[in-house]
Amino acid sequence: MHFNPYGGAAAELAALLVNAEPDADLIRLLDDFGYRPITTLDAEQESRLREWVRRLDEIFTAPTVEALNTLLSETTSRPYISTHDNRPPHLHFAWEGDPMDERVRAYTAAGLATLFCEAPTRIGRCARPGCRLVFIDTSRNGRRRFCSTRCSTRVHVAEHRRRAG
Ligand SMILES: [Zn+2]
Ligand SMILES: [Zn+2]
Repeated sequence: MHFNPYGGAAAELAALLVNAEPDADLIRLLDDFGYRPITTLDAEQESRLREWVRRLDEIFTAPTVEALNTLLSETTSRPYISTHDNRPPHLHFAWEGDPMDERVRAYTAAGLATLFCEAPTRIGRCARPGCRLVFIDTSRNGRRRFCSTRCSTRVHVAEHRRRAG
């Protein structure tokens, strides 16, 4: 997990979790994303993690210093450098042996906080009315407005029709 520009993989994971269906299999999602180490989530940890995702969603709507500091204060952040799974040295924000929900909370809070300090306008939510998907804007000019080309095409077609009509 790397902290590359714009919050890196940690911010991307926050967006992926927010965009997931409410009943998505969280362990599978984390595994597919490449999050390591994958352990287990009992029912209580899973519901805590889903509640956390709801709060990440609020950050994408209104990212503020206060909201992000509140999230950070609720994580058990203990930064250290890890080399697990033969990965190059990289920062961890929670101990590898901690429950996975705690690790994911610390990781996603650190990712969004890093992104917010670097480039807050890159914490994005799709501008198509009716679409709630979020994204991390890693575009060169930082002016991305939509979650996908599908949404951007739909909005542009509608605008074109309005002008033509
Ligand atoms: Zn790691
Ligand atoms: Zn969209």
